Amino acid sequence: MNFAPGQIPLLGWSRKQWEDWLTDHDCSPVHATSLIRGIHRHGETDPERIDSIPQTVRSDLCGRTECTLPDVVESSRARDGTRKWLLRLTCGNVVEMVLIPARGRATLCLSSQAGCALGCTFCRTARSGFERNLSAHEIVSQLWLVRHRLQPDIPVTHVVFMGMGEPLANLGAVAGAADLLRDSHAYSLGRRQVTVSTAGLIPGIDRLRKVADVSLAVSLHAPDDALRTQLMPINARYPIDDLLAACRRYAAGRARKHKIIIEYVLLDGVNDHPECARVLAQRLRGLPCKVNLIPFNAFPGGGYAASPEPVRSRFREILCEEGIVATTRRPRGDDIAAACGQLAGDIQRSREHRPWIGHAIPVHRSQPAASGAMV
Ligand code: SAH
Repeated sequence: MNFAPGQIPLLGWSRKQWEDWLTDHDCSPVHATSLIRGIHRHGETDPERIDSIPQTVRSDLCGRTECTLPDVVESSRARDGTRKWLLRLTCGNVVEMVLIPARGRATLCLSSQAGCALGCTFCRTARSGFERNLSAHEIVSQLWLVRHRLQPDIPVTHVVFMGMGEPLANLGAVAGAADLLRDSHAYSLGRRQVTVSTAGLIPGIDRLRKVADVSLAVSLHAPDDALRTQLMPINARYPIDDLLAACRRYAAGRARKHKIIIEYVLLDGVNDHPECARVLAQRLRGLPCKVNLIPFNAFPGGGYAASPEPVRSRFREILCEEGIVATTRRPRGDDIAAACGQLAGDIQRSREHRPWIGHAIPVHRSQPAASGAMV
């Protein structure tokens, strides 16, 4: 967000940033806890109203904080209870977030960038090109909005960075947001309740390992470099062996039971042959991981189709026979275009039906109507 210089972005500051600020202003850093509790736990946007901090701190903060929230442009609810919100940020960029309630848990899928620069060929977000990184404030404001304004009755138990964008290309903001998601006085989520999903930015994986304690999901989608580079151009820079080595380093620095999630979207006739499953299993052998098979969600002009159910089942069986834990992700919210790969279509519809949304989309966009996010 475009905050005035010197303004504190209220939802984006981590404990460390508050502590440093308090110390610089001759106040005790212990008040960071009250600030974080007031803002994130109790939903306060005006530090003047946080009674548990001393009046001197409140006066020092007076006029120095800013808490601009995204506009909720559209909201929809699927038959299965999945909720989707289209958010317009202050600079006009539009992102989406999805809340997926399921037995005893509710997963919020956050966006970390408007658009994406990586160009994966099966992903609709890629078609919008890259617009900009979200700030930590903008990332956290998605959860803050759900918790304090949009859906306070549904406690968010899991957060996944699987919305728009490549989180490891915006690591500073994502790590700052992850700090708050994990902070016991803010959202208090466990390491297995926060998942960062990446297309495979190796330096980002190595850095994430050092700056955040969260789960890692890697979008692999192919068992060999030739096919993966075809689907995900980033593979030319960070090929599979190097990527899996980075996954091993990540897992080695974690608790013993920690597993990397390997995401694999099944594309009809492209990466779903039984031989692909066998090669995949061989490559993953020895890596503490579980494979999450994602049924492809087709979109107009996407050029791919979803693998039929029997092919998906056989693929999973082969992985299991080879000793790899594999599950199939159930598409959620597809009737409101909230499942993987469907969100872009919804923005397009919104823009067609509501021309006033159009001004929120930057004019330098190279292709028409194509933001989008995956869940
Ligand atoms: N940039 C991150 C987050 C992307 S979204 C990453 O690449 O991991 C989360 C998942 O949805 C990724 O695994 C992505 O490859 C997948 N995905 C993208 N388009 C899809 C589609 N049309 N159908 C199903 N899954 C898709």
